[in-house]
Amino acid sequence: MFPLLLYNPSFLNRGRLFMQDLSKVTVVLVNTSHPGNIGASARAMKNMGLSRLALVQPKDFPSGVATGRAASAVDILETSEVFDSLEEAIADCGLVIGTSARSRRIPWPMLSPTQTARKVLDELPDTEVALVFGREDAGLNNDELQQCHYHVQIPTNENYSSLNLAAAVMVIGYELFRTNLENEAKDTTQENEFWDQERATGEQVEHFYRHLERVMIAIDFHDPKNPRQLMQRMRRLFSRIRMDVMEMNILRGILTNIELHIKNKQK
Ligand code: SAH
Repeated sequence: MFPLLLYNPSFLNRGRLFMQDLSKVTVVLVNTSHPGNIGASARAMKNMGLSRLALVQPKDFPSGVATGRAASAVDILETSEVFDSLEEAIADCGLVIGTSARSRRIPWPMLSPTQTARKVLDELPDTEVALVFGREDAGLNNDELQQCHYHVQIPTNENYSSLNLAAAVMVIGYELFRTNLENEAKDTTQENEFWDQERATGEQVEHFYRHLERVMIAIDFHDPKNPRQLMQRMRRLFSRIRMDVMEMNILRGILTNIELHIKNKQK
């Protein structure tokens, strides 16, 4: 059969011998306390060719302190977007990578900073990507970490693993820039994965989880009073797979039919 993949316009971008545009990568800072860290993160971003900044409930923004620390990256602060929740900030994203200074109770798919850069560059320019950074004092909470497909931990001295927020943005940004530069020099045709469908976005996947939860409750499989981490495990399962839009529509169709069957039975 003639490969369907040739009809995917992204095919034309594969095997590129030029540096990729990073404008579909958003740096998301969650609940940042110190405006200086927002400014310093913007500066690190601009140094490394990143331009899109999203702020989730910043404690103090806009702020002269942020502007001062941003130096010549004030444009990034000016074009940044402020959101009420991480869920809203990543609604359009098909690849979400969360950063964490320590490993959590439920293990999650982990990437090194270099693997993170490779994954991001492999999926651009078809996919909107979010790199998510947490609070200075407490990092990202479990709810937020579970909205990420992958976690990345920057390797450090084991006795002191917590970097300053803007330093963490710099390390991930540098890794992305460095890998992009390296790719420019080599033909990456052989390494790229081809796919015929777009990945489901954060917003679509959230709707799917709600639908799944409703149906699991309706068939008495799930008791929200005694959840036993069922939804976390479901999230981890589907994060690992990273459904495309077609796969997700099939599953939503199955869920809808289950609901119809239940209704018919009740009649
Ligand atoms: N005590 C917090 C550390 C917060 S540091 C915790 O245990 O998570 C603020 C943010 O910087 C973190 O949320 C993360 O986004 C980033 N960061 C700091 N150190 C990091 C590391 N070693 N690897 C990855 N991200 C890190």
